[in-house]
Amino acid sequence: MDTATRVKHLTDSYGTLEGASLLAAMHDVFGGRIALLSSFGAESAVLLALAAEARPDFPVLFVNTGKLFGETLRYRDQLVKRLGLTDVREIGPTADDLAAGDKDGMLFNRDYDACCHLRKTVPLDRALATAGLEAWVTGRKRFQSATRAALPLFEAEGNRVKVNPLANWDKDRLEEEFTRRDLPRHPLEADGFLSIGCYTCTERVTPGADPRSGRWAGSAKTECGIHTTMIGTAR
Ligand code: SF4
Repeated sequence: MDTATRVKHLTDSYGTLEGASLLAAMHDVFGGRIALLSSFGAESAVLLALAAEARPDFPVLFVNTGKLFGETLRYRDQLVKRLGLTDVREIGPTADDLAAGDKDGMLFNRDYDACCHLRKTVPLDRALATAGLEAWVTGRKRFQSATRAALPLFEAEGNRVKVNPLANWDKDRLEEEFTRRDLPRHPLEADGFLSIGCYTCTERVTPGADPRSGRWAGSAKTECGIHTTMIGTAR
């Protein structure tokens, strides 16, 4: 079955499931060859809690670019312990990657896209291939940006499926879930960082502004490059 056909089948068969039920079903469908990609950013706790509810050993991939805030690393440790997640895999650029592409560690200053490719996309591609994963889960939501407005529940990307369990969630629902589950907040959120990536490319956001406007501020860049699928598939 090609990936597009698989996406249609998933949409028809599982398109009405939500949250932990959807994630548990996907783990079964893909025989465990699935992982959740998390940045452990401002809204990540909700999806991680749903995955832990589905099964504590739901695989989680965490891309450590080497440029993350110390607060993010400590928040990751706090969340993993609190939620009881048992299979969190840290991935990132290797020493060889950096020697070949970012010797001085300043590539972000010269070329955002090349830096995100080196520090995020390459390690993720490598991890997906090495682990033989057939699907991965993202925390993207339609409300986050115009480029995500038509985000479907299931997408085809190459020969893999991407699952977006929160695609149709809005900000209020996320906040309710934080409250209902008493989830800890990323420590930088209270300081005005509403979408949190690398410290080199993340700025505070003024109240009322688009939360993602603090990412690569002043440039045309809006996505890190990991999510390059053409959006528009069903649901
Ligand atoms: Fe590089 Fe900035 Fe992308 Fe991080 S967010 S990988 S520092 S360009």
